[in-house]
Amino acid sequence: MHSPSLYSQIMVRFTVLASGSKGNSTVISGARTSILVDCGLSCRELFRRMKLAGEEPKSLAAIVITHEHSDHVNGVAVTARKLGIPVFFTEATHRAWMRWLTPRKQMTYAQWLELCRKQAAERQAEADAATDEGEPDESDLLAETSSESAEAQAESEPAKSKDPTWLPAVEYFQAGQPFEIGDIAISPFTVPHDAADPVGFVFRAEGVRMGYATDLGYIPPNVKAQLQGVDLLLLESNHDLEMLRDGPYPWAVKQRVLSRVGHLSNEAAAEFLENGYDGQAAYVILAHLSENNNLPELARVTAEHALNGRASLLANHLLLAEQHVSLPGIYF
Ligand SMILES: [Zn+2]
Ligand SMILES: [Zn+2]
Repeated sequence: MHSPSLYSQIMVRFTVLASGSKGNSTVISGARTSILVDCGLSCRELFRRMKLAGEEPKSLAAIVITHEHSDHVNGVAVTARKLGIPVFFTEATHRAWMRWLTPRKQMTYAQWLELCRKQAAERQAEADAATDEGEPDESDLLAETSSESAEAQAESEPAKSKDPTWLPAVEYFQAGQPFEIGDIAISPFTVPHDAADPVGFVFRAEGVRMGYATDLGYIPPNVKAQLQGVDLLLLESNHDLEMLRDGPYPWAVKQRVLSRVGHLSNEAAAEFLENGYDGQAAYVILAHLSENNNLPELARVTAEHALNGRASLLANHLLLAEQHVSLPGIYF
């Protein structure tokens, strides 16, 4: 437990609420601002975990999205609406997310003509039926009027009641162009992953730098450069290569995960920790562990071996983010 005087000096918090293919969400707080990174849990579960972790949902200033895969955006619309806060995307990610929510019905011109003919025939049949039955009685009239007024009411309401993509506010950022939300500075960078425009982030609050890189097939030079000089490193350690190869996934899915735009293996994360990383972070958090193709202890041992004795009281404290429970908040 922190003493009250010490507690009042703590200004930066990093709380992983969930990590993995069933949902990702992290709260990052500076002295004045709290933001949510990804919103892959349902709104209800998100709020439940936030409260358990001592975080107040109403204090969130914004949601920042890495990419449009459902484990990162599942609860975003409901949560943003409930809290009335903006969602930060890249434009391509926002478009991909909207497309995902509103699947387009594709048809040929001939199919469209056929549809028009069918609808015209249906209207004609209804009109014929109405004349056959004579004048509608009073209750029918009443029902019609009330349903019409309900429709009119729905139309006069904001588009949010109908449009699943409606958000209180949308803000665009671009990879490579740092921006700020309150007192949190955010540097988004491109990561190689099979999404429209996926990014990782370096967050900076009160001089504390926090790197966030999951959902990437490998670590290219730009990502390597971004992840230097961080005080906290959250890095994907998705699968054990042998477990994936021998595991239950169909061949095509294995190929996807293993590809240059798939997910980072324990081995690739270890290669970075051993040879690509400056060893300066106080905390290293392994994240987005597969429940089918990994074991927490395998990921931990592989990373520990790579850190090769560099763990100390001050540096490289190794943690594993989990799918079903939050990690206790990390305080700076
Ligand atoms: Zn993911
Ligand atoms: Zn993804």
